[in-house]
Amino acid sequence: MAVYRGKYVLEGLGTISPEMEHNLDLAYEICMSYKDGFPCEMCGKCCHQPHIVVRPEEIDRISSAAGIPLYDFMRNYLVQTGDGRFLFKKTNPCAFLGPDNRCRIWKDRPQICDDFPYAVSMFMSRVYLALTNPDADIGELIAYMDDDWPCTRVIKGDIAQRIEAARDRVVPM
Ligand code: SF4
Ligand code: SF4
Repeated sequence: MAVYRGKYVLEGLGTISPEMEHNLDLAYEICMSYKDGFPCEMCGKCCHQPHIVVRPEEIDRISSAAGIPLYDFMRNYLVQTGDGRFLFKKTNPCAFLGPDNRCRIWKDRPQICDDFPYAVSMFMSRVYLALTNPDADIGELIAYMDDDWPCTRVIKGDIAQRIEAARDRVVPM
């Protein structure tokens, strides 16, 4: 199983060729250009989603930030899936979303919350697909994104142009 940048699991791939790695770097660069240029506005809209993954190495930090003893945190706030991952038990909204729609553990929130939506694998994979396949329609590929969130509105506004601008740097595979 190939893993890109330590977190993007490439199902069914044993290794990543240098050409593929170059093109993945391009897709990553595009995704990160949003993260750098349009930081999260902390509107709390994405904090109503399921599947907030907590990495094992984050559990201690998050339970401390929440002021919840580790044992209680693991028992009452996390659920372990069949494949061994930990997810927040309470979602829609997340147990740590305050009444003002702000995250109460912002500085110590899970990595996936920091990555979302610019650097999560769902978006990365679609940018990569559109970059390497000129027939792919990025608008259709990201139709799953909400139209009204501050971050997804920005992405939908100019992702097609950003992909076109990078296309001449794509290397054939
Ligand atoms: S919906 Fe977007 S802007 Fe709002 S909190 Fe989530 S990541 Fe930030
Ligand atoms: S931990 Fe914070 S940022 Fe992440 S879903 Fe919960 S409230 Fe939102």
